[in-house]
Amino acid sequence: MTTSKEHIEITEKYGAHNYHPLPVVLARGQGAWVWDAEGKKYLDFLSAYSAVNQGHCHPRIVAALKEQADRITLTSRAFFNDQLGLFLKEACELAGMEMALPMNTGAEAVETAIKTVRKWGYRIKKVPADQAEIICCCDNFHGRTLTVVSFSSEPQYREDFGPFTPGFKLIPFGDAAALERAITKNTVAFLVEPIQGEAGVVVPPDGYLKQVRDICTRHNVLLCLDEIQTGLARTGKMFCFEHEGIRPDMLVVGKAISGGMLPVSLVLSSREILGLYRPGDHGSTFGGCPIGAAVGRAAIRVLVEEKLAERARELGEYFMGKLRSLAGKNKKIESVRGKGLLIGALLTPSAGKARPFCEKLMQQGLLCKETHERIIRFAPPLVIERADLDWAFDRVKAVLG
Ligand SMILES: *Cc1c(COP(=O)(O)O)cnc(C)c1O
Repeated sequence: MTTSKEHIEITEKYGAHNYHPLPVVLARGQGAWVWDAEGKKYLDFLSAYSAVNQGHCHPRIVAALKEQADRITLTSRAFFNDQLGLFLKEACELAGMEMALPMNTGAEAVETAIKTVRKWGYRIKKVPADQAEIICCCDNFHGRTLTVVSFSSEPQYREDFGPFTPGFKLIPFGDAAALERAITKNTVAFLVEPIQGEAGVVVPPDGYLKQVRDICTRHNVLLCLDEIQTGLARTGKMFCFEHEGIRPDMLVVGKAISGGMLPVSLVLSSREILGLYRPGDHGSTFGGCPIGAAVGRAAIRVLVEEKLAERARELGEYFMGKLRSLAGKNKKIESVRGKGLLIGALLTPSAGKARPFCEKLMQQGLLCKETHERIIRFAPPLVIERADLDWAFDRVKAVLG
């Protein structure tokens, strides 16, 4: 049998080093728990960056995957298939949208959203050709394609990759007045995450989404929310925008829309906007494939029927309360922020970097990942049991208490 150590060596030898994983080799997963190649058990506190909200290998999603694998997996969009229409209908009903465009990865869906708001800008808003502007926020994370990193404020995401796509403007996150100041007659959209996940679970001030909704409406600018990480029950609502009772013009989802089984993503919007597409304008060979659609349908059913949004809200409040009790007393955790089960703990400057703490937590059986140097994200699968959170908290207390 190949050992964990050997798997790591082979991966490092043959794989490009564009990640710095914790030294654990996962071989199996069930619910909130995963096992390494030697059979040691760990609690997953990352959920593949919120792609496995439904838990690892959810039996109903696995069954949908297997059943569809035996029937038909890929048709291309040259033909219809008997899963896609139902998947798009169910996703639209879940999000309260009229139409959807299926892609695969999150970054591809963001690219698609960018193409779509530009198309709307030229066709409907009558922005002069090639003049469309999109406003985004500093410290955003929307994926890794070249156009998407064109508006990243993280130098490492851009270094050596230029030249970049023009047409983007950056403003501070959480500052609605800055949005109003940045809008020009050529602004077609404001693209924003309701909570900045990769930036370290940065929660904007209360009322921010309401304010930006109002500003976008007054200036005829589309509000496009990237809920790839915050959506699908993670923050205690099916979508994070529901916390402020607003509706975006466009919504991007990915990750948990397949429960972590396959790359599936969607851009959802109105008929007025997505109805602008004509055959040949845009596409993807795998986007909308029957196996992705069948898995997506099962993943949505699990989110709804297992009431995972409510669970995330209750368990998130419970766990955040426990973490905050630490932050008050000790010298390692400066503050705790988040919504639902998307939680970030900011370490104090004197605590040092987050990475060694993640390594210690791993040795204790808890898999967390640092984001930036001083933040640890806590984001377990939403099917996690309260007793497992207590188990996790004991480990956090031992390492960070
Ligand atoms: C993960 C993520 C993406 C990119 O998704 P990929 O599937 O990795 O391309 C985009 N936006 C947000 C908010 C994300 O968390």
